[in-house]
Amino acid sequence: IRINSRLDVRSQFPAIENWHYLDSAATAQKPQAVIDAITNAYACDYATVHRGVYQRSSEMTVRYEAARAAAATLIGGAPNELIFTRGATEAINLVARTLPKNGRNRVLVSQLEHHSNIVPWQLAGFEVDAVPLTSDGQIDLDAAEVMLTEEHRIVGFAHVSNVLGSILDAKRAADIAHSKGALLLIDGCQAVPRVNVNIGNIGADFYAFSGHKLYGPTGIGCLWGRSDLLQQMPPWQGGGAMIDEVRFERSTFLNPPARFEAGTPHIVGAVGLHAAIDWVQNLSLDAIHAHEAALVAEARDALRRVDGVTIYGPEDSAGIVSFNVNGVHPHDTATILDDAGVAVRAGHHCAQPLMRVLGVQATARASFAAHSDTSDIEALVRGIEQVKRVFA
Ligand code: PMP
Repeated sequence: IRINSRLDVRSQFPAIENWHYLDSAATAQKPQAVIDAITNAYACDYATVHRGVYQRSSEMTVRYEAARAAAATLIGGAPNELIFTRGATEAINLVARTLPKNGRNRVLVSQLEHHSNIVPWQLAGFEVDAVPLTSDGQIDLDAAEVMLTEEHRIVGFAHVSNVLGSILDAKRAADIAHSKGALLLIDGCQAVPRVNVNIGNIGADFYAFSGHKLYGPTGIGCLWGRSDLLQQMPPWQGGGAMIDEVRFERSTFLNPPARFEAGTPHIVGAVGLHAAIDWVQNLSLDAIHAHEAALVAEARDALRRVDGVTIYGPEDSAGIVSFNVNGVHPHDTATILDDAGVAVRAGHHCAQPLMRVLGVQATARASFAAHSDTSDIEALVRGIEQVKRVFA
């Protein structure tokens, strides 16, 4: 069955001409509108922010702050609660390093988390407990309810798994966390490009995401945090742009978000991210979600028709399908697919604990974006048939 509400934006992506790019979960390709915004920002409008008294700098400051407002609005937050970071990794590290423990030394994550939602907590001196998964690869929230104690300061869950595409019932996760006085941090890296997110409806306390997975540039990401929590968190990096007054004996600091943005920020990154947000909102996240859901259903059906392929994760995953060709290492699968002009990721996907749970060393992963279409799935399946011929 062909679903006619498919998006048709492939021609807006100059870098994927004649290429079946199925690695958008690693990083998204950029539409021309984003490339143009970045180029023009450097070619015509470039100047620093927050400091210059000349007009170009004030204009760039307005655009930098407009990007912050757009990023906050995208997930239903307020601009003063939105901190620009290098990416989701830095966003989670910021929370792990600065959130007062209040006598609670444990963090509850899940077995499907990306390393960036495990290691920062360990480095910050938290004990990490991991909620198991249901048989189809969702975070088992019944188990989370049982495991959560008053020793847990925070619950950290991926909104969408980067390996299985599983979508979290984020509102229920928030209710569970709050029932024991814990906070909820959501790693929204894979959700923000694929799901319409509203942190108010969820009741989240922190939400982290990366610009480069949202069709924007690398090197910029966002941490949204409840403003009363951000107020309680001390700075973690010192330097320019985050201070109120500096003396050799002692310095004082600005309020959030500036308190957490030491140094000259990624100015053009913010401009590019804003263009990406505009691009996504113009299509609508509901349309992108529906488009990717249809492709996932189509891909899972097509892979099921190929003998000797194991598919992981739930049926209704968000834009991401992990699989293995039985008896073939996924690196070999990905290499042969590459020869056929199909780019998939192979490896542990920065989720080694999840690989242990699945009982594999690695998987191959096909992930979709707004520009993906049926031709990508057809090429994937032809490539897998070739893998099977090579390894027969
Ligand atoms: N969490 C998830 C679920 C991810 O997929 C990724 C990126 N693969 C990250 C966190 C880390 O994002 P970044 O590398 O952009 O900081």
